Amino acid sequence: MTQLLEQLRDQLRHYNYQYYVLDDPQVPDAEYDRVFRQLKALEDEHPEWITPDSPTQRVGAEPLAAFTQVRHEMPMLSLDNAFSAEDMYSFEKRLRDRLKLDEETPLAFACEPKLDGIAVSLLYENGQLIRGATRGDGSTGEDITLNVRTVESIPLKLMGSGYPERLEVRGEIYMPRRSFTRLNEAALKRGDKPFVNPRNAAAGSLRQLDPKITAQRSLEMCCYSVGVVSGGELPDSHEAILRKLATWGLKINAEMAVVQGAKGCLEYFDALSERRNQLAYEIDGIVFKVNDIALQQRLGFVSRAPRWAIAHKFPAQEEMTIVNAIEFQV
Ligand code: NAD
Repeated sequence: MTQLLEQLRDQLRHYNYQYYVLDDPQVPDAEYDRVFRQLKALEDEHPEWITPDSPTQRVGAEPLAAFTQVRHEMPMLSLDNAFSAEDMYSFEKRLRDRLKLDEETPLAFACEPKLDGIAVSLLYENGQLIRGATRGDGSTGEDITLNVRTVESIPLKLMGSGYPERLEVRGEIYMPRRSFTRLNEAALKRGDKPFVNPRNAAAGSLRQLDPKITAQRSLEMCCYSVGVVSGGELPDSHEAILRKLATWGLKINAEMAVVQGAKGCLEYFDALSERRNQLAYEIDGIVFKVNDIALQQRLGFVSRAPRWAIAHKFPAQEEMTIVNAIEFQV
């Protein structure tokens, strides 16, 4: 049994290296998720086998040495996953049990599309953008300040007033579908290797040592949370915080909505699933977060993810054959 455990861990470490360090995934995400769940189920059955270096306990991968490293003052975590309606109802039940809320008490969730790009932290001091960093392994990321400065939807100076003196904004940098198609058409015309998917194209474009290359790629940033905040106050719900960020010129997702309970989350999930292919960007699921910040704080975190959020992933769409058929650019 422990042999199987080590085999699954090694497999995931290899997939992680290819995906996060080389930006060159070898298997579809659904296959990664399948192996991850298998390992997680084994570890749930035998918690005594969990080690801190297990892929279930870690976020992303260590930053590339070619970039200056940035230590995150607040860790940048991953998200737990749900794959079914049942998973979503269990999620709500876990939350209610922990918060000691009865069935009658409403529990609101903020819903946002899960953009498939790369997680980034932006640090603003007195409204000026002073640093951009990747998530890296959650504790240490890569300094990509010069690269993020080339992304048009990232304000170099916040608009309006009332923002905290120190404000860390987090979000996803992604490549809209149209830019991805154009980029790959141009690559094929030149006889270069195309990118495997928009996520890969965004990661490859952003983690460039030459920011001029980043500037030529049409990337966008959508903000979905805050990190360090000092010298000012923010509203007390997730939704209101994001709406506040929008007033300061930061881009937030137009599809964001607040619903009640897992039932409301599932209705949102179904409605957006139907429109998924009409969106201007690729998404791989929906993220649901407890909307009340005081409740989020009571719920806290486990090793690699907050307890108060979950990513409900869409069923697999990606075909293995695509990954294997063409040699892709990294
Ligand atoms: P994740 O992608 O499942 O979820 C966490 C990430 O979601 C955050 O870091 C953030 O970047 C992103 N996100 C997008 N929209 C968000 C929103 N509105 N609010 C909050 N976060 C939002 O977790 P992960 O740790 O980044 O990656 C793990 C996943 O990556 C796996 O489940 C798998 O699908 C994929 N992966 C694939 C391979 C492969 O070889 N194919 C390897 C490693 C990881």
